[in-house]
Amino acid sequence: MGEIPESSSKEIGTTEVSQAVEPISFAEFLEDTPPSQERVINDLFAEKYAPAAGRSYRQVQLPALVLHCSNERCNGSRTFRRISGDLPSLPNDLDAQKDLFLTFVCSNCRLSAKTYSVRVMVRSEEVTVGSAVKFGERPVFGPPTPTRLLKLLGDPTRDFPQGQTL
Ligand SMILES: [Zn+2]
Repeated sequence: MGEIPESSSKEIGTTEVSQAVEPISFAEFLEDTPPSQERVINDLFAEKYAPAAGRSYRQVQLPALVLHCSNERCNGSRTFRRISGDLPSLPNDLDAQKDLFLTFVCSNCRLSAKTYSVRVMVRSEEVTVGSAVKFGERPVFGPPTPTRLLKLLGDPTRDFPQGQTL
């Protein structure tokens, strides 16, 4: 029960043994972890109490991130903060999980945004600890997008290069 009889779930190019990977902060996960790699996050949740329901739940914590901002006003590392709104929450159950879109905006120019698609999971009795895996992110994971391309986002002529592959 509960065991998945699958031993061939290797990701391309991944040779890491997952047990050997240290828990990381959610900021580190969002900034530095490529898509499709599940990580244990040591500060993913805060425990909250819902008086009406008479039970506790876990609220996802969304830290400020330091990301490369390609806007010409910034063109360097800047602090990105989540857009306002309620923080997502999950039941305090060990098999709980939720798929989220998380958007962060550059605090300096307020023009660049980074959006993550992630699954967060309750997998530990320890209330702050959870697991997470990215489905993807935009702009894509990796080296900063050339300013030339980002400029097009604000350009009404929208002359996007043909045949551009990611
Ligand atoms: Zn910026």
